[in-house]
Amino acid sequence: ETFASMDLYGPLKKALADQNYTTPTPIQSQTIPPAVAGNDILGCAQTGTGKTAAFALPILDYIAGEKLQAKPRRPLALVLAPTRELAIQIADSFKVYGKHTKVRHVTVYGGVNQNSQVRSVARGSEVMIATPGRLIDLMDQGHIDLSDVEQFVLDEADRMLDMGFLPALKQIVKALPKERQSLFFSATLAPKIRELASELLFNPISVDV
Ligand code: AMP
Repeated sequence: ETFASMDLYGPLKKALADQNYTTPTPIQSQTIPPAVAGNDILGCAQTGTGKTAAFALPILDYIAGEKLQAKPRRPLALVLAPTRELAIQIADSFKVYGKHTKVRHVTVYGGVNQNSQVRSVARGSEVMIATPGRLIDLMDQGHIDLSDVEQFVLDEADRMLDMGFLPALKQIVKALPKERQSLFFSATLAPKIRELASELLFNPISVDV
């Protein structure tokens, strides 16, 4: 199987070809078709397996291929990552895969002054990539409204719990519409992770690589 033969929005295939990516990795070939079809995903995968594209491509496919007419001010997709480094890496991937689309993304994370992030958020973007603490700060200050989110990604859920983000995560999820697509990725599926997944996902397709 190749990306070219997948049911994906053409400009995304073009971006993949620009990167010389021809063949999906196992997590990508198992995740992208059901995610593009709208299913929730429970993915067990380490970093380095290509999991970023496994969630970025379905999000870009939906927003660029179906959703993007007028420019919305509030995010349609939220990607949560445990660390600033990972959030920045994910943003880089959205930039690469979305280069031939008009989908905009914004990244918010802690450890830096929030003013420039607040200004970026105010300009509006379809995809928000965030670490939990800074996201909650900006939500509490009224800068971010998640009520239009249709797609939610939790990346590295196990690290998220290890870092004590469970209460923050629960607060964020409460601010999301109940009717949404959720994509959940973790390197391990310990009982606590499965419990969280069962609270967040509806009839998920399980993918294990
Ligand atoms: P990730 O696990 O998402 O951090 O991706 C690991 C690395 O593999 C990144 O440098 C990606 O750019 C690269 N990559 C992702 N998908 C593919 C693919 N289908 N073919 C070749 N390289 C890829």
